[in-house]
Amino acid sequence: MNASPLPPLNLLIAAPRGFCAGVDRAIRIVELTIEKFGPPVYVRHEIVHNKYVVDDLKAKGAIFVEELDEVPDGVPVVFSAHGVPKAVPAKAVERGLNFLDATCPLVSKVHRQAERLVKGGQHILFIGHRGHPEVIGTFGQVPEGAITLIETVDDAETIAVPDGVPLAFLSQTTLSVDDTAEIIAAVRRRFPEIVAPDSEDICYATSNRQGAVKAIAERCDAMLVIGAPNSSNSLRLVEVAERSGVKARLIQRASEIDFAWLEGVATLGITAGASAPEILVREVVDLLGTRFAVSETEAATVTENMLFKLPRALVA
Ligand code: SF4
Repeated sequence: MNASPLPPLNLLIAAPRGFCAGVDRAIRIVELTIEKFGPPVYVRHEIVHNKYVVDDLKAKGAIFVEELDEVPDGVPVVFSAHGVPKAVPAKAVERGLNFLDATCPLVSKVHRQAERLVKGGQHILFIGHRGHPEVIGTFGQVPEGAITLIETVDDAETIAVPDGVPLAFLSQTTLSVDDTAEIIAAVRRRFPEIVAPDSEDICYATSNRQGAVKAIAERCDAMLVIGAPNSSNSLRLVEVAERSGVKARLIQRASEIDFAWLEGVATLGITAGASAPEILVREVVDLLGTRFAVSETEAATVTENMLFKLPRALVA
């Protein structure tokens, strides 16, 4: 029996959720750079797509800019986890800047494959979202015209490709697993000889978080995804929940919870994108606890133990 005067609410919290190894590493790189060289440390682009993380690093001495031109001479600069076109480190070297690259190793892996494929004479079909920094970074690894963006099944079926050039495909790391499978199927139907990546480009963290949402969706009446509107993997989690038949909303912080939207919800799913810290999940649970008699259950699908090495320049 619910003895509390508050209405009951079951919280089903997805696991894995939140920070991935690449985000963890990128944030640590900024913190260690500040510790080692002292503030200010410039960061080109949001180190990860999360306002809370960015504000926290700003308070520690980071200054965020969009382009290298905005970085003054003589101060260290960190490149974000999403990766940068080759021209960016080249420019930094030319200017004699001390730069640290926080590109996620799983994004760098895609960069190296892109270079290798183009060197081997292949044209790349790249599955991704136009304008996302990771896509811009990967396109910037190879000469212009060597790679073509595909965003949809329709693109895969219709896009023009160079005549007589062998094809290969790669993808952004933070896509919808299901959408990408459909696009790849369309690409393979049209170009049966196309070469696939060495291994799946969608990263473990993206796949695991989407899998964890699917695993709980059936038992939920609604789902809150904690993440930023410019975070690709967080947006995909909202889509995955909706496609599993549950209404879902993206919120950045607890203050964005719409309590009217929760009316009639008995079980609420909660997850967080790969760039959202756990503290924001706790904040959401705590605020819900002021309006409901909440009972929390964590639903774990897989255990993650990925850890990426820090750059030698920071740990030596
Ligand atoms: Fe790396 Fe995947 Fe995390 Fe992106 S989401 S930083 S690719 S581990």
